[in-house]
Amino acid sequence: MNYQVDNNGFYGEYGGAYIPEILYQTVNSLREQYLPIIESEAFKQEFHELLRDYVGRPSPLYFARRMSERYGCQLYLKREDLNHTGAHKINNALGQILIARHMGKTRIIAETGAGQHGVATATACALMNMPCTVYMGAVDIERQRPNVERMRMLGAKVESVESGNMTLKDATSEAIRDWCSHPADTFYIIGSTVGPHPYPDLVARLQSVISEEIRWQLKEKIGRDYPDYLMACVGGGSNAAGTVYHYLDDESVGIILAEAGGLGIDTDKTAASMEVGTTGILHGSRIKLMQTEDGQIVEPYSISAGLDYPGTGPLHCHLYASKRAQVVAVNDVEALAAAYELTRTEGIIPALESAHVLGALPKMQFRPEDVVVLTVSGRGDKDLDTYLRFLRKAGK
Ligand SMILES: *Cc1c(COP(=O)(O)O)cnc(C)c1O
Repeated sequence: MNYQVDNNGFYGEYGGAYIPEILYQTVNSLREQYLPIIESEAFKQEFHELLRDYVGRPSPLYFARRMSERYGCQLYLKREDLNHTGAHKINNALGQILIARHMGKTRIIAETGAGQHGVATATACALMNMPCTVYMGAVDIERQRPNVERMRMLGAKVESVESGNMTLKDATSEAIRDWCSHPADTFYIIGSTVGPHPYPDLVARLQSVISEEIRWQLKEKIGRDYPDYLMACVGGGSNAAGTVYHYLDDESVGIILAEAGGLGIDTDKTAASMEVGTTGILHGSRIKLMQTEDGQIVEPYSISAGLDYPGTGPLHCHLYASKRAQVVAVNDVEALAAAYELTRTEGIIPALESAHVLGALPKMQFRPEDVVVLTVSGRGDKDLDTYLRFLRKAGK
C-alpha cells in the first residue's frame, strides 16, 4: 500500500486538482516549483531558523505520567500548544509565505473559519511585510471577535463574506474568486491539508516537522524512534498529517484519528465527515464530504470552530478507506469532559479541537507497555468561555 500522493495528485481515489481553467497556470506553476523550493538549502535553512527562533521549536514531547496511569499506557503529549500563536498552524503559514516569496508573489490571501489560520497567516505577513487579505464569513466574524481583532492589529484586511451561510465554505469560495482575479501576483495560503493538489502534500510536508521531531525525541526518551500508536484530531487534517507523516509506511505504528462527532454521528449536527460523508468534490479536491443527495453542502456542526469543515483532506480519506487509520468520532460533551480531565490531571488547558483527540482515549484499549504519542494541536485560551459555560452547567 502506498500512502504518498501520486504524480496526478491522488491518494488512492481521493485528491486531484479540480480547478477553474483560469487558475490552471497558477496551480501548475506551484505544482512544478514546490518540491524544488522546499528541498533547496536556502529554503530549509530559512524555514528551520524561523521554526526554532520564532515559533519556539522543537515543541516538547512530554511524558504525561498521571494520564498514563489513568489510561494504562505510556502516554506522551506532543506540545504544539506551546508554539508561538498557540497552535500548529504557524508551521504551515510560515512555510507557505517563504514559498510565496521564492515564487516572486507580492500579495497573500487566505480563508479562515475560527480565525486561527487567519491569525497565523496575518502573523507571517506582518513578519515578512506582505499585504494580507483574509476572507471570513460574516457569521464567523461575529462568533470569533478576538481573532478578528488580532488579525486587524497584525495589519491584515479582514473581508466579511455575506454569501451562503456566511461561514468557512463561503469564505473559501470568496478567496478562490479573489485568486482567479489576481493569479499572477497573489499567493493563496491554504490552512490545512485540503484544496487542489499540490496543497494537501505541500501542507503535510510543512507540518511533517512534527513527526520528524517525534522520531528523535522518542529515541532520546525510550531508545526507539517509533511509538505503538499516534493520535491526532482531524479538521481538514494538517496537525494529524504532520504527526503521522514519517510513520505512514511503518505499519507497526497504529494511527488513531479523532473527528468531531458534534451532537452525535446519528444526528444531523455533526462534522464527522469521514464516517458520515460521501465522496464528492469540494475546493478543488475529491474527498469525503457532508452533502445532500443532489450535492449541496450540508453545514457541519461541532462545538469546536476549528473542526467544523464540511470535508476531510484526501490523505485522511485514503488512510480511512484503506484501514491504515482508525477513525473515532468524539462528541461535544466527550471533548469537554476530556479538556477538563487534562487540565486537572496535567495542568494543561488544551484547545477544544485537541480535546477531541483526548476524548478518544477512553474509547481505546491499550496494553500497559504501549507507547502512545498524542498531539495537543493547540492551547485552550481561546476556548475559555465555552469551557466555563460547561463548568457552570455541570456544576463542577
Ligand atoms: C485549526 C485547528 C485544528 C484543525 O485543523 P487541522 O488542519 O485538522 O489540524 C486543530 N487544532 C487546532 C488547535 C486548530 O487551530
